Amino acid sequence: MSKYYNPQRTRNLFDPSSKKPYKISRADIELFLKCPRCFYFHKRLGTPTPPTYPYTLNSAVDKLLKREYDIFRRLRLPHPNMTYHGIKCIPFAHKDLEIWRDPLRGGIRYLHAPTNLEIRGAIDDVWIDANDELHVVDFKSTARKGDVNIEADWQISFRRQLEIYQWIFRRNGFRVSDKAYIVYANADTSRTAFESKLEFDVCIIPYKGSDSWIEDVIVRLHECLLSPDLPPPGRDCDYCAYFDRRTLHEKNVRRSPVAKSSDRNSTLN
Ligand code: SF4
Repeated sequence: MSKYYNPQRTRNLFDPSSKKPYKISRADIELFLKCPRCFYFHKRLGTPTPPTYPYTLNSAVDKLLKREYDIFRRLRLPHPNMTYHGIKCIPFAHKDLEIWRDPLRGGIRYLHAPTNLEIRGAIDDVWIDANDELHVVDFKSTARKGDVNIEADWQISFRRQLEIYQWIFRRNGFRVSDKAYIVYANADTSRTAFESKLEFDVCIIPYKGSDSWIEDVIVRLHECLLSPDLPPPGRDCDYCAYFDRRTLHEKNVRRSPVAKSSDRNSTLN
C-alpha cells in the first residue's frame, strides 16, 4: 500500500447520532449519483476509493484564467473573450469571492435545514449582467481535435456541477440566471513541435441549467447516510463485480505456502 492512501479513515465520517451539520461537497453529490455504495463506503465507513494523480496542468490553466478574469473584475469591464462571444456581463466583484473559490475554506455553502447537511461548492468564477443576475462560470481545459462542447453523456458531471452551484447561490439569496458558462481552453496539438509551450483556443460555452433535481437528491443522499444497510453498487461500474469474484477466488484457491527462509537464502545465493 502506498503512503498516499489510507483505507480506513476515522475523521469526517457521517454519524447518524450527531447534531452537528455534516459537510457534503459538490463532488460528494456526484459520487452518490454515480454509485451510492461507493459514497457510503467513503462517507459512512471511512474507506474512499484510492486517489488518482492530481491534474496539475488543468489546475495551472484554471489558476491563470482566474488571474486573467480578475484583471477585468478590477476594471469592471468584460473580458475581451466575453465581448467576442456576445456575453453582456462583467466578472462579479464580491468580498467573499476568494472564499467561494477555495474548497479549503468551504467554498460557497448552504445549510439544508431538513437534513442538517451543509452543501458546499468551490466555484471558478461568477459573472453579473445588466439585470443584476448572476451567471455561474466554470473553467475547463482539454486537448481535443475539433470544437469542444459539454453535451456528451460523460460530461453530465460538468452540467450537474453548474446546476449545484446555481442552487447554492440561489439559496444564499442571490438572483441567479439559468444560463451558466463554461470557459473551455482546448490545447492545440497540431503544432509541429512542443517548443516548451502549449497554445490554447479558448471558447465560452453557454449552458441552460435546471436545479429542480437537487432537493430530492439531497434527501435521498441523507437517507443513504442514515441507513445501516450497504446500498447496491452503481450500474456503470464493474469493480464490485470484480472484487466479489476475487473474494470468491481467494476463498477457493489454496494460497502458495510461504517460502522457508532456507529456500529464500538458496535462491538469493
Ligand atoms: S460499483 Fe464501483 S463505484 Fe460502486 S462501490 Fe463498487 S467499486 Fe465503488
